[in-house]
Amino acid sequence: MAEDKKKGTDYAAMERPIFQAWKDAGYFQRTPGFGEHADESYTIVIPPPNITGVLHMGHALNDTIQDACIRRARMRGFQTRWIIGTDHAGISTQTKVDKRLAEQGISRLEIGREAFVEECYKWREEYGTTIVNQIKGMGCSCDYDDEHFTLEPAYVRAVRKLFTDWYHEGIIYRGKRIVNWCPSCTTAIADDEAEYVDEPGHLWYLRYPLTEPVDGLEYLVVATTRPETMLGDTGVAVNPKDERFGHLVGKTVKLPLVDREIPIFADWHVDTEFGTGCVKVTPSHDPNDWAMGERAGLPRINIFDETAHVVEGYGKFSGMDRDEAREAVVAAFEELGLLDHVEDHDHSVMTCYRCHTKLEPWESEQWFVAVDALKEAAARVVEDGSIQFHPARWRQVYLDWLANLKDWCISRQLWWGHRIPMFYCDACGWEDASVDELEVCPQCGAPVRQDDDVLDTWFSSQLWPFATMGWTEEGMDAPEMRAAYPTQVLSTARDIMGLWVARMVMASMYCCDDTIPFEDVIIHPTVMAADGKPMSKSRGNGVDPLRLMEDYGADGMRYGLLMQVTGAQDMKFNEAKLESSRNFANKVKNASRFVLMNLDGYEPGAPEPVTPADRWIFSRLAKIVAAVDAAYDNFEFGEITRELYSFVWNEFCDWYIEFSKARLGEGADPADRVACQRNLVFVLGQILRLLHPIMPFITEEVYGELPRDADDAPMLIVAAWPDAAQLARFVDEDSERAIAMVCEVVGAVRSTRSRYGISPKVALPVAVKVADEGDAALLLAQAHLVAQLANVEELDVAVEASKPAESAVVLGSGLEVYVVLAGHVDFDAERARLAKERDALAKDAAKFEKKLSNPGFLAKAAPEIVEKDKAKLADLTDKLARIETQLSELG
Ligand SMILES: [Zn+2]
Ligand SMILES: [Zn+2]
Repeated sequence: MAEDKKKGTDYAAMERPIFQAWKDAGYFQRTPGFGEHADESYTIVIPPPNITGVLHMGHALNDTIQDACIRRARMRGFQTRWIIGTDHAGISTQTKVDKRLAEQGISRLEIGREAFVEECYKWREEYGTTIVNQIKGMGCSCDYDDEHFTLEPAYVRAVRKLFTDWYHEGIIYRGKRIVNWCPSCTTAIADDEAEYVDEPGHLWYLRYPLTEPVDGLEYLVVATTRPETMLGDTGVAVNPKDERFGHLVGKTVKLPLVDREIPIFADWHVDTEFGTGCVKVTPSHDPNDWAMGERAGLPRINIFDETAHVVEGYGKFSGMDRDEAREAVVAAFEELGLLDHVEDHDHSVMTCYRCHTKLEPWESEQWFVAVDALKEAAARVVEDGSIQFHPARWRQVYLDWLANLKDWCISRQLWWGHRIPMFYCDACGWEDASVDELEVCPQCGAPVRQDDDVLDTWFSSQLWPFATMGWTEEGMDAPEMRAAYPTQVLSTARDIMGLWVARMVMASMYCCDDTIPFEDVIIHPTVMAADGKPMSKSRGNGVDPLRLMEDYGADGMRYGLLMQVTGAQDMKFNEAKLESSRNFANKVKNASRFVLMNLDGYEPGAPEPVTPADRWIFSRLAKIVAAVDAAYDNFEFGEITRELYSFVWNEFCDWYIEFSKARLGEGADPADRVACQRNLVFVLGQILRLLHPIMPFITEEVYGELPRDADDAPMLIVAAWPDAAQLARFVDEDSERAIAMVCEVVGAVRSTRSRYGISPKVALPVAVKVADEGDAALLLAQAHLVAQLANVEELDVAVEASKPAESAVVLGSGLEVYVVLAGHVDFDAERARLAKERDALAKDAAKFEKKLSNPGFLAKAAPEIVEKDKAKLADLTDKLARIETQLSELG
């Protein structure tokens, strides 16, 4: 509300003490459980935010979803716990710390590994809790007293144990592989971490002389975007079905500059359309060439060192960096008359996501996880439905990802992270993995050294669901594991489906006796900017959740975000939804204030529907609870917010409270007054419970002000969730129909009054045409309500009712309402006024129509002008239609 804005409501001032009260009461730790689910646990592990992170819209949405699930489970009596913690985030933390040191003129290499890692821990102390505090600000009911960190001692042991087990079983192996190498960071970069950049380039056509001319042909021409890599060529490939070259397969070429004799061979992967159809093959510097080289048994020659300089043994090229080498190789070919020609060629190159240096496909020794041993079980538990995806279409995405999974390179050449627990003895050659630190060789007693590399951050993230539950010390016998594993819900973004979700399943199946890590996986939509593009700093289209909480309160932000969740995979952020959610929160508060102000003489007691209006609202409540439960069971969060919004606002606030006013006012029957008070308190209490998981603060605040029974929970956070089965006895179709008709008739009379400017003080006769005798009886029985709310002096209800003279008509669902205006409206004057207005509007509309059908105007005018005119025309047409209706109503 504009008013709120001006005053600048300090939402945090209301929210913080409530949060503290929940925390102090211990409700964030695993709850004791009550009712029918008392013995069941319900656990969620939060996707651990990076210690370098700050709350963004993705977190805001995801954390709201998880908090809604966990709060509802707590209210349903489950023993709930939402596990929180942070991820050490290897590469991005190292970058931040590097930068901080650089600002002080210190280099990482100067201070050495140990001191650097210490700096990283210091950095974490200072900044690593920022995001956890922001999550608290959202009201998330995580177990903050047992916060985890992927580099805490127990976690480190868990990671080492898994590494050691997999190593001993041959699932982890060391191998030479081609990896995406950053020559500047001197580390391997995961495929998923690389960024693609389009850049203009060239295609160089190089001549490779045949060792022996074939039918007069002296050389082949190969096309390449990276001529410098020819120093490492070990073959030339053609497609086996390419008739131009069939006769050359098996012959050799003499590689220029290095004078190496290399074979011509056939491989199905050669694209006959690319270049000349002959391709040079450099297995050590191109992943496709690597694969071709493997198939053809080619040697691999690595021509670059780890900083992408040409290694020794290449004459003048040795010591050049890759760009210098390119120029020199091209110049040498030109000199030898072997440069056929050059074409312009744009291509996309992989760059390092943290320093933006071009990545070098580079052969190096790395550690790998052989995923074939793990992926079958991970696929099975999704195929057989043990793990369910929401929306369901993600199931196939997961299975496809697993099917295409290749061995996972897990070593990173960084300092910050889980150091690979491999120990080597240089004296006798002994080596092994070990969970415990090793100082000396068990074989010869010489000092050992540990592997220098660290593990990919995802290697440790995959243990998150169980390494946070005591698995490290006691395995599956840990009390938490026994009581609460598998967890129930995992909610995450789609882009880490493979990187994280699938790996957790693989790790859990292996580490936890074939137990899945979670039962339901929610893949929430990605929050896009209002313009539909990804939010980004450079575009300036981002939205800060901290600002949103200031403007709309945590409740307004949470509700407004969930309102926008549909089954779609993207959600275009719409701030207006947060505004309407804030207004909704105010509406709830105002309704509560009304109830509280009308509790004079209140006596606690069981609610009991007495009037048809009571029976109606109780029936509607029963149905809403069932609908909300069903939507939660299907993880349809947008649906939950819409059901509740319309019930609370349109039915409870707009109608039930109004129906109640006469029963609470002066002269009301004291017994009925108490009944009405109890029913208001009851329905409002149920509404607060239903809203609480999404709007925790304002509902808790109001709950604290409402009268409570002795057996009611001390705080709403642990109050019992509405029981759909118990409420089902209140379902009453007749009362629902009767009150629905009352609302329609009252609405019709009110809208007619405002259209014709007739005061509510003037009583009007009304006739209603209904569909059948049943409806007629139901509505007539509520004539007093209609009279009370719409000031109707005569209510005529009949199946055969016809439109009285000089009356307005309003169509409702299954009924027509005629409001008699005779004596209150001068029909002749009104008709003349309307006709005049209609003619003026028609003239205007014709003008715009003509303009908009003129091709000349449409071609020349700016698009926004055309849009504006179209909008004006639509508005005029709409007004015209309304006037026509009024005119025909007047007869
Ligand atoms: Zn880099
Ligand atoms: Zn030894």
